[in-house]
Amino acid sequence: MAGKALFLDRDGTLNVDTDFLHRIEDFIWLPGAPEAVRWANDHGYLVIVVTNQSGVARGYFPEEDVGRLHNWMNEDLKRFGAHIDAFYYCPHLPDGPLPAYAKVCDCRKPKPGLIEAACRDYDIDRNASLLIGDAPRDVECAERAGVRGVRYEGGSLLDLVVKELSGDGPRLAAG
Ligand SMILES: [Mg+2]
Ligand SMILES: [Zn+2]
Repeated sequence: MAGKALFLDRDGTLNVDTDFLHRIEDFIWLPGAPEAVRWANDHGYLVIVVTNQSGVARGYFPEEDVGRLHNWMNEDLKRFGAHIDAFYYCPHLPDGPLPAYAKVCDCRKPKPGLIEAACRDYDIDRNASLLIGDAPRDVECAERAGVRGVRYEGGSLLDLVVKELSGDGPRLAAG
């Protein structure tokens, strides 16, 4: 049976967007972000990060830094009883200075390649899935992949996830 996924942008959605973040010491979770991941874990969603990391193509940091930061995020999420199931990132930039990464790819958001890759690797029911991101290109990426996309505009990410994934939200038991 196909599973459902919560796709999350990284910078500006899960963590404070300091430009071209790549150092663990600069990482700050946004309000309710770890709790949002935990909620999705507990409600049967695969949690999949989809993130543009053109800092690689710009020569600001190597891909190893991306992997190291993502490993650290999952280590830190253990404090919250949460985990991210997979990270997909785009290291490319068409006009970047490094030939290895200077290409028009299919994965730089708003292109849908990151979500498409995740859907190939996991059995994902796109209709039951959601993407949350802070930029219009995140929502566009989701829509191009046939996934509902919602904009995160600050506040608690947990509140937004609960609102979007539990219909009308939690109900009090009828009494
Ligand atoms: Mg972002
Ligand atoms: Zn790419």
